[in-house]
Amino acid sequence: MSQVISAEQPSLSRCPLCACERLVYQFTHLTTPVVRCGSCGLLMRNPQPSDAELAAIYTERYFLGTDATSADDPFAREVHALKRATAAGYLDRIEAYRGWTPATRRGRRLLEVGSGLGNLLLEARARGYAVTGIEYAPASVATANARLGEQMVMQGTLESVDLRPESFDVCVLADVIEHTRDPLAVITRAWDLLEPGGTLFVATPSLDSWSARLMRQRWMEFKTEHLFYFDSRTLRTLLLVAGFERVRVASGRKTLSPDYVFAHFDRFPVPVLSPLGRIGRHLIPSPIRRRRMSVVASGIDVIATRTDAAPLTRRRARLSVVMPVYNERQTFAEVMRQLLRKSIPNVDIEVIVVESHSTDGTRDEVRQFEGHPCVRVLYEDRPRGKGHAVRAGLAHATGDFVLIQDADLEYDLNDYEVLLEPLLGGRAAFVLGDRHGSTGRTWKLRHFTDQVLVSRVMNLGHIAFTLLFNLVYGTRLRDPFTMYKVFRRDCLSDLTFEANRFDFDWELVGKLVRRGYVPLEIPVNYQSRSFREGKKVRFVADPLTWIWACFKYRFQRLDT
Ligand SMILES: [Zn+2]
Repeated sequence: MSQVISAEQPSLSRCPLCACERLVYQFTHLTTPVVRCGSCGLLMRNPQPSDAELAAIYTERYFLGTDATSADDPFAREVHALKRATAAGYLDRIEAYRGWTPATRRGRRLLEVGSGLGNLLLEARARGYAVTGIEYAPASVATANARLGEQMVMQGTLESVDLRPESFDVCVLADVIEHTRDPLAVITRAWDLLEPGGTLFVATPSLDSWSARLMRQRWMEFKTEHLFYFDSRTLRTLLLVAGFERVRVASGRKTLSPDYVFAHFDRFPVPVLSPLGRIGRHLIPSPIRRRRMSVVASGIDVIATRTDAAPLTRRRARLSVVMPVYNERQTFAEVMRQLLRKSIPNVDIEVIVVESHSTDGTRDEVRQFEGHPCVRVLYEDRPRGKGHAVRAGLAHATGDFVLIQDADLEYDLNDYEVLLEPLLGGRAAFVLGDRHGSTGRTWKLRHFTDQVLVSRVMNLGHIAFTLLFNLVYGTRLRDPFTMYKVFRRDCLSDLTFEANRFDFDWELVGKLVRRGYVPLEIPVNYQSRSFREGKKVRFVADPLTWIWACFKYRFQRLDT
């Protein structure tokens, strides 16, 4: 290429994922500082290598096996076979996620970004997909097109090539995203090219892989051309912000042979391992060195669905407030007044009131809100428990996010903004309002001046149930039973719920945790009310159902 390649090292002043300006120094790798975003936790090199430095790395011989002089070189053939087997594993995962059979996958349009020498495209074409590749390195484009026997690979980047929006069913980025200068822009572009409901598959090295944990700063994936280092949390954030949902994370599997691993450590030297590899190559007999193995390597695979609605970076968000109402005459109107007065920047609010046939006149109060443009009212013909009412409300929610709001004033509606902030920024998919506040005084959670003993027993019970939940679900939550549960609505997309009373709290939090949505807890204000003031928990019967729910929803099969 004749263009002048810049020798300037671009410096990042903010995190490209969440725009936070606090980039905290972690350590230095090959003279370059590696920093962590103080908000979303993304790790990145800063400054980034210059275009000239990258061009010197991405030579014609960048891909292992391409430095063989002849295409018939046995090692080159072996490398292709291993990469094709790894690609087959990726396609298997995509097909299982979509529920495709060999018949229904036929003709699906697949785009691979960073298609290298074309191994995944070859495997996909053999399975009946209509394939397109994008590859930056001209030499690789030529090799891949020659192997495919057709011009299926375009030279360029995802941003530079001319493709029609919404024209693919599947987009694959395997070991690509960590090389790009702006991962959010790349994934958002993938959103544009996928049709609604389309599937994105991303494989990338991960900081929570066993090799990263073991090798720490000597991890082999710390290299100049890897500009970003993700883990399952930051990768999930990236996909959620870019307009994807139903995000599933799994340990990355690659098909490797000892010979390939030795060659890799020769090509990308790592202290200790590279010398060990050279020794191993001499000691291990060649049939074993060539054996193919599917191993959990240093990365993660993430699969997700393109949403219908545009990414949140391009539009206003919508919050559905689900409010179960039963005999709340004292407070209902006041809660509604506060709620409808609320204005959150860039967020529209819809309120879904579920009235469970109150006997104290609350239903008449609810009726007055029927015509309000932001309010939807559902009437139940008899009270069947708070869980039942919330489930009815969830079924009618249309927002990006859902918040469950009781019709009493135990919680402070001014906390909405702090609860929503991590969701809007993609830092979390599930947030709980922690009633212990920032002081952490667990034992003062409830204080009823009219029923001191009852409040003490309830506080002890709270501690015991929190402990039970954490033990059974392997979490470290402080307040899993708070009313303030705020989450992305798509987290529920393939879960079903059945609990009708307060055991619904256990079912909801338990199933979300099992789906991988570990809640972020944020301190909120809380003013407890006593039974005399209208609390509806049954003192003995309900706790028994909670223990049952705790175990039942831990082991019940999750719908897929
Ligand atoms: Zn960030």
